[in-house]
Amino acid sequence: MTPDQAFVLVGSAAVGLCVGSFLNVVIHRLPKMLERGWQAQCAELSGEAAQDPPAYNLAVPRSQCPACGHRITAAENIPVVSWLALKGKCSACKAPISARYPAVELLGALIAVYAAYRFGVTAKGLAVCGLLWTLLALTCIDFDTQLLPDDLTLPLLWAGLLVNVSGMFVPLSAAVIGAAAGYLSLWTIYWLFKLIRGKEGMGFGDFKLLAALGAWLGWQMLPVIVLLSSVVGTVVGVCLIVFKGRDHNVPLAFGPYLAIAGAIALFWGETLVRLYFPY
Ligand SMILES: [Zn+2]
Repeated sequence: MTPDQAFVLVGSAAVGLCVGSFLNVVIHRLPKMLERGWQAQCAELSGEAAQDPPAYNLAVPRSQCPACGHRITAAENIPVVSWLALKGKCSACKAPISARYPAVELLGALIAVYAAYRFGVTAKGLAVCGLLWTLLALTCIDFDTQLLPDDLTLPLLWAGLLVNVSGMFVPLSAAVIGAAAGYLSLWTIYWLFKLIRGKEGMGFGDFKLLAALGAWLGWQMLPVIVLLSSVVGTVVGVCLIVFKGRDHNVPLAFGPYLAIAGAIALFWGETLVRLYFPY
């Protein structure tokens, strides 16, 4: 490895850590922002007096400890390092801080380093980072709240179509068909399931996420993604039922498996397709 390459990898790791830190904010706040929006709309519809709640978005207010309200200082906000230095506890009240914060930061860095290693500092490398960082945020949000916010899935879909205007990953025609087929395939399964079983097996966010993956990776990759996600989902689901006694009627979030399958398909999809269809 030349010094230049080492510099690129270290630089992308640093950028990835900072993005991971921002993703933690998105994962934590976006569902709360949506909920506030819905409550405001409901209040407006039912004719309640308009209240003006304090601002709450990705920038305001400053991060604080959910247990005691202690403001997180700049020194306590350094990705991974601060969590290790604080031994995973709030500096004021010693309430534990979830290990997921440094884990998301490390994954953010891993994504950046791997993209830089695979594609270099190119438009394609940046696009891969954007896709995987968004999938990481969606995975955590869906895991926490069973929501896949339109604010993330729809821009991801548009971005997938845009990067493929010049055929960055697949020809534009494959991307457009991929988006439509991704949405329609799960939409069809959803309605069949609803007609036969009389209940909902997944949410509309799942359709939009698969549409987005179809836009990025092309329709040819959809069967691979669906197959991979059901394999991952089945393994995790069975483990949860066996080891945690989880009620099998509780709907499991499907989004994380789709997102993980999409990431696998991005890097190894071609190889998998060739394994199954060697001709
Ligand atoms: Zn605290």
